[in-house]
Order: sequence, then structure tokens, then C-alpha cells
Amino acid sequence: MPKIHVLEKQVAELIAAGEVVERPSSVIKELVENSIDSGASIVTVEIRRGGVTYIRVTDNGCGIAREDVATAFLRHATSKVREKDDLDAILTLGFRGEALASISAVSRVDLITRTADSSIGTHYSSEGGSDVEIEDAGCPLGTTITARDLFFNVPARMKFLKKDTAEGNSVAGLMDKIALSHPEISFRLIREGKEVLHTPGDGKLNSAIYAVFGKEFSGALLPVDYTLGGIRVHGYISSPIASRPNRSMQNFFINGRFVRSRTACVALEEAYKGAIMVGKFPACVLHIELPSSVVDVNVHPAKLEVRFVNERPVFDAVYHGVKSAVTASRDMKSVDLAQ
Ligand code: ADP
Ligand code: MG
Repeated sequence: MPKIHVLEKQVAELIAAGEVVERPSSVIKELVENSIDSGASIVTVEIRRGGVTYIRVTDNGCGIAREDVATAFLRHATSKVREKDDLDAILTLGFRGEALASISAVSRVDLITRTADSSIGTHYSSEGGSDVEIEDAGCPLGTTITARDLFFNVPARMKFLKKDTAEGNSVAGLMDKIALSHPEISFRLIREGKEVLHTPGDGKLNSAIYAVFGKEFSGALLPVDYTLGGIRVHGYISSPIASRPNRSMQNFFINGRFVRSRTACVALEEAYKGAIMVGKFPACVLHIELPSSVVDVNVHPAKLEVRFVNERPVFDAVYHGVKSAVTASRDMKSVDLAQ
């Protein structure tokens, strides 16, 4: 057996980064979630070559104080969780303190940030997590982070990236979901120099749906707003006559976080049974709100999966919320958000 040794810090960092950062869209997910957590009302994302050579995320949130900037890039450094018990009631999208460390380990990063109580901002730059420089910068309130040349120092990872168009599509799909998860924030995506998404940020879910999916989809939706056992389910579902050939338009959000939830999906489809043709699927944009103490978001590094302390009440709330909207639609015309 060869001798066992502890990995060099830089190698260990690269391995850990691989868990959080897989492709451009995973970088953008982390950065935009940080912007949302920062209290921003406007978030702009710009990508070039599908995000492989250039990603920039700008927000008008709280910014990072000069003395915290270097710490923010360390692994397990976070302002969002302090004690073990905090993990039982997570109200922010981030909490692992790993994103900035991971992203900076595998790209060339520039961050410009300013808080409200400082007249001068901070510019932080690094290459693959080394050659760190910190200097003064004049900048507006908030944070702009640029990540260039993703995986420039991890050729093995680079090989697994898809064509630029496919990476760009993945970013666009992600931005759609994020925009639907926070209608109170105005999101913009600029892809290869062209604006491809712009939500108004007026707080109305139907405005965000219209901006994301366009006129045709928005034209045949049924509103849902239902509370059962402390769980609120609200949003829009497709009218039975406008069902779809697959499940790609089923969007569930739990406490403002886009998730894949088998329970919610089964409840949705059960509620449509008998109302739509076999082989067709309902579409939805449904927000599920429940006390953070009964949902565990710390299951998956990308936080795409959540675990409920009890699945049954979630199933029931979705099922009955959807069922009553579908039943009511037999007597009522669907709402046309396009009007
Ligand atoms: P986490 O989001 O899990 O805390 P990150 O590595 O994503 O970990 O970020 C580390 C810290 O940097 C955050 O806890 C936050 O304090 C700060 N931060 C990161 N991005 C922003 C931003 N856009 N605006 C304000 N603060 C930020
Ligand atoms: Mg984060």
C-alpha cells in the first residue's frame, strides 16, 4: 500500500469545488441566490459563450463590508448560519458557505462591492483562488461578481462541459425558475449580448409568468390559493384543456426555493385525474409555503431536493388546492394573464 498523506490545500479545494460547481448554470445559481439573500430588488446576469468564458452577476443588495470580503471566499465562511440549531430553521437560500470558495477555486474572479455605510467600495480579484488582490474601488451600492474562464485550471472538468449553446440553455432555464421563485425581484438575463429575460419585479407572480413563458402559456391558467394545516399553496395551474405532452412545465417552489418534489408532483397529477386525457400532463407554477422547521433543505449540495418531516400534509395541501381549482374551472372560464 502507498503511504497515506493529507491532500495539499489547493488540491483539496479543487475536489470540494467540484461538488458545488459543475457547470456555468451551477455558478449562476449560487451567485444569484447570494444576490437574493442580500436583499436585492434588481439582479442582472450576463453570460458569454454559455457562461464558460464569462459570467457576471450584479445586484443592488446590501454589499459586503471591506473587512469581510476576504473571509467570504473561505470555505465554510457564511453570515447566514452560526450555530447548530440555526440549521433547523433556514430562512436564506445559502447557508453552506461554500459557493464563493468553490467558484474562485475554478475560475478567475473579480468582485466589486459596497455597503451603505461606506462611501468607498472594495475590489477583490483572484485566479483559481490564488494571487488574491484587494483594493479600493468606486462603485454603486451592492455587489458585482465576474467569473471568467470556468475550469481553466481543471482540464478534466472542462472536457465535460457541453456545447456553449447547451450550457447557455441550461442557464436560461435556471433563470426562468429563479424569476418565478421571486416575483418581487426584477431579473434580467443578457445572453451573448442580447436580453433574453426581463421580469418586472412588481411582486405579482402572474407578471413573472408572463415575462418568462409568454402570452400563450399565460393565456390558459387557473389561480390557486389554498391553505391547509398551516401549509399554503398558491400560484397558477394549467387549465385541463391546456395540458402538455410532458412534465417539463411543472414548477414547484418551497419557501421561495425551486425544488424537485415527487410528493408535490404526484399530488398535482392525482388532482387532475379524470379531468385530463391519459398521457397528458398538467403544468403549474406553484409556491408551497410552510414553517421552515418542518422542511430540511440540507439534503443535497445543490439544494434541489428537500425532505419534509411529514410528506402527507404537503401532499394533501397540494392535492386539495389543485383539485378545488380544477373543479371550479368547470363552472368558470380560465384567467387570461395576457389581458
Ligand atoms: P453562503 O451563501 O452559503 O453563506 P457563499 O460562499 O455563497 O456562502 O457566500 C459567503 C458569504 O458572502 C455570504 O454568507 C454573504 O455574507 C456574502 N455574500 C456573498 N455574495 C453576496 C452578495 N451578492 N451580496 C452580499 N453579500 C454576499
Ligand atoms: Mg451562497
